[in-house]
Amino acid sequence: MKLVTPSLIALAFLGALALVAAPAPAADKINVLIIDGQNNHGWAKTTPVIKDMLEKNGKFTVDVLTSPPKPDPKKPMTDAEKKAAEEGWAKFRPDFTKYQVVFSNYNGQDWPAEVNAAFEKYMQNGGGLVIFHAANNSFTKWTEWAKMVALLWQGAPNGDRITVDDSGKIVRTPKGEGIGAGHGPQHPYELVVRDKEHPITKGMPEKLMHVKDELYQGQRGPGENMDILMTAFASPDVKGSGTNEPMVFTVKYGKGRVFVNLLGHDEKSTAEPACTILLLRGTEWAATGQVTIPVPATLAADATAAAAASK
Ligand code: ZN
Repeated sequence: MKLVTPSLIALAFLGALALVAAPAPAADKINVLIIDGQNNHGWAKTTPVIKDMLEKNGKFTVDVLTSPPKPDPKKPMTDAEKKAAEEGWAKFRPDFTKYQVVFSNYNGQDWPAEVNAAFEKYMQNGGGLVIFHAANNSFTKWTEWAKMVALLWQGAPNGDRITVDDSGKIVRTPKGEGIGAGHGPQHPYELVVRDKEHPITKGMPEKLMHVKDELYQGQRGPGENMDILMTAFASPDVKGSGTNEPMVFTVKYGKGRVFVNLLGHDEKSTAEPACTILLLRGTEWAATGQVTIPVPATLAADATAAAAASK
């Protein structure tokens, strides 16, 4: 009896622990915070597309935080609007620690310094960040942000340029040399996988067509701790740089993971097969370091058909 009693107590204790630890139904989902509210792109149209694709996938729960609107230099704010913006920014204090991944669809005014500091800490401690298209245009003066994003939309004097030659070798062009950020007219283009073993690209077709979209070139920044997953050739026929531009990559920042996806100028290109699967798998990876979302068997064919239709 003496032997039995303690183990029964232990069992009861373990049972109680199990009950306490039993997750709520949504706890096994990845919680995502999308930040928007200012952008030179149609954030009000792309955010619902992104939220919907994440929620429909079933692995994610999504909150959206919308910042106060960007002041319009041509239309001075009324006193009431100014007051509302000030109050809005005073309340803009996201608790990043509640989320496994922050998804930026934001390109606008600087966040309050206190928010930047909290975000740096969150990322240093192992947070996740997804950069969506023009989100890399923002915060060019924020040094730690530049380290997280690696390459930003800015001029040649502001940072190094990273490209990939035809043999797959990374080429670093020092700041001040060569072109700065830009893009030619939108057109369908091919994405080439440069890291086949990364969880995000593993199992994806080595070449994947993407619909009519912007092909960013000449992005500039510290360009450190990057893993280039996909490039696209910026053809001189469409005012391109004539080299392979990194379009999809990851960045290591402290213990944090950053997924950068430069596709998705508008809601249409965002919803198409290549961009959708990259955002789903990239968001899961930024949150957990792993990818369980399967690559659809029809991805290559669907993407090619969508690209042909978008010409
Ligand atoms: Zn764009």
